[in-house]
Amino acid sequence: MNCFSARQKPGLLRIGLVALGFAVSACNAEPKSEDREYRLDFVVTPIPEASSVSVSMQVSQKRHWLREVEFDFDARYSGFEGDGQVDIGGESVRWSVPKRSGTLTWTVEVPHRRGDSFDAYMDIGWAIFRAEDIIPRKSSVTAVDVTSETTLRFDLPAGWSVTTPYRERRGVFRVQNPDRRLDLPSGWIAMGAIGTRFDTVGSTRVVVTGPSRQGVRRLDMLALLRWNLPELERILPEPLPRLTVVSGGDPMWRGGLSGPTSLFIHADLPLISENGTSLLLHEVMHVAMNLEAADSYDWIHEGLAEYYGIELMRRSGTISSRRYKRAIRDLREWSEAVESVCGEESRGAVTAAAVTVFSDLNAELKKTADKSIDDLLRGILESDEPANTRTIRDIAETLLGSPSRVLSADILKDCGD
Ligand SMILES: [Zn+2]
Repeated sequence: MNCFSARQKPGLLRIGLVALGFAVSACNAEPKSEDREYRLDFVVTPIPEASSVSVSMQVSQKRHWLREVEFDFDARYSGFEGDGQVDIGGESVRWSVPKRSGTLTWTVEVPHRRGDSFDAYMDIGWAIFRAEDIIPRKSSVTAVDVTSETTLRFDLPAGWSVTTPYRERRGVFRVQNPDRRLDLPSGWIAMGAIGTRFDTVGSTRVVVTGPSRQGVRRLDMLALLRWNLPELERILPEPLPRLTVVSGGDPMWRGGLSGPTSLFIHADLPLISENGTSLLLHEVMHVAMNLEAADSYDWIHEGLAEYYGIELMRRSGTISSRRYKRAIRDLREWSEAVESVCGEESRGAVTAAAVTVFSDLNAELKKTADKSIDDLLRGILESDEPANTRTIRDIAETLLGSPSRVLSADILKDCGD
């Protein structure tokens, strides 16, 4: 349901307030109904020889509900054109949407560098990127009390196919992001000469996809997920309806990256490392937790993802209890020199230290209150607040009946509240 006028840019506040006034009166004047729904249809056409895609975004509405959208874009975007008024600034485009229907189109180069490799790429035969890489994010929307019904289609070269995080019916992907006020497609997409395997694990529809002949281990990944997703489902407040795993080889980034209901993992990486951790399950945890990022609390996201990546494998029997203990012990040794887990980015030894915090907290919860880290995780996921040190301390204190000894340690003293 959209009844809003959201503005993020201070310079545009005045327009936003005027629009909000309009929105409120419009909301009062007309009852909500399913009729108050506008269509948002995206068509993506790959141009492999130019490593780019052209995108059209068509709005169809019975009345002038969606009035204006402003997108931020970077240098990879060009050629914005549309019905109605289109104002293009240096890094933003503002589209005054026509009364009934109209289309905004643009072209975007897909490849995006991340260090000396790419986190979005298009070759002559395949492409891997996130929807966010080809559809700019909105910086503002002016609309009255309406809902968008969004679809995504692809006009593909011969021999190409496509997999997205969304359910497909006759070539149309229905975009459903209930948390988003304007339903823009998001998450990882693979297209081209790709191979895809599906399976249903518990309540989760699992899709594993990636370019052909790049050594993507689809069935290995499905097997690991079949063993471990049931354990994950037991601890989540709500099951994960879909999980799309996109994998590919060089020149894609040699790591894992999570997105909404989907993730990317480089095809050459082991599913379980020699130290007993699993990058695939680490990224699955990021997808499942979908935690809002709060500045300086990356240790919470990374620590929980890494801790549960190992813990799920212990519970499912993928690794033995002995190997589990050894993995935690090795992470503890690795993190001995870490003085604080707080900071903008948690990596390496800092994440290892965060894992030991959660491992120790689990022990404390079990010993003192017959609770576990699962109760804490559910508390975090059910909270309306972004996870930070204070919210975690509060949840732990509620479970324990007194402040957590583990969360009072020196390693957390600079984390603030
Ligand atoms: Zn991570």
